[in-house]
This record gives sequence, C-alpha cells and structure tokens, in this order.
Amino acid sequence: MSDCIFCRIIKGELPSKKEYDDGEFLVIHDINPSAPIHLLVIPHRHIETLMDLSVEDLPIVARLHAVIQKIATEKGIAQPGFRVLHNVNDWGGQKVFHIHWHILAGKKFA
Ligand code: AMP
Ligand code: ZN
Repeated sequence: MSDCIFCRIIKGELPSKKEYDDGEFLVIHDINPSAPIHLLVIPHRHIETLMDLSVEDLPIVARLHAVIQKIATEKGIAQPGFRVLHNVNDWGGQKVFHIHWHILAGKKFA
C-alpha cells in the first residue's frame, strides 16, 4: 500500500529506529513511546486489522510470537516481564491500519 506509513517504513522510504528485520517481520521503536521500551512488531504483509486476518494468515500470527520471544530475550525484558498490546479499529485505539503489535516494557504495569 503506497500510502501506508508502515509499508513505507518497511520499504525504506521513511526512516525508523529499527530493532530487527527478518524479511517477514519488522520491529521498530515507537516514535511516541508510552513506556521506557516501546517497540512495534509489524508484519511486512499489509493486513489492515486483526479482523482482516484469514485462516491462511494464522501462521504469521504464530511466527510473530516467536519474534516477540526473541526480542524479549535479546532486550532482557522477559523477566521481570512486559506487555503486548494490540489495538483494533477506532474504539480500540488503532491509528495505523497496518496490523502491528506493541511491546511495552521497562516499568511495572498495573
Ligand atoms: P496504534 O494506535 O495501535 O495504531 O499504534 C500506532 C503506533 O505507531 C503509535 O504508538 C504511534 O506512536 C506509532 N507510530 C506512528 N508513526 C510512526 C513512525 N513513523 N515511526 C514509529 N512509530 C510510529
Ligand atoms: Zn501497510
């Protein structure tokens, strides 16, 4: 999607602070962090929302969790812990309509 901000970041057309990229998932630092560590896990494939995931896409969601485990281990946040957040559509707080998961860490959440 040429007008999608995350597709443009994935293509390298827009800058980002990249943490990880394996060709299927990009992990970047959120530009407006709401925790000391705030990462976004973004599949390269443009899928708008969780509601647009098809059965064929479900392996992506499985592999995404392996990426989250890898990043959490590398960043040293698996213990004491971290939060994974996923916003869906307007009332869910979704602003960027390219599916992504937030990793929030570096403080204790209520
Ligand atoms: P959401 O509200 O779940 O759609 O989350 C979108 C997130 O993307 C927000 O936390 C934004 O701060 C973040 N964001 C928007 N533009 C950029 C960007 N160019 N680079 C990094 N993060 C961004
Ligand atoms: Zn996109």
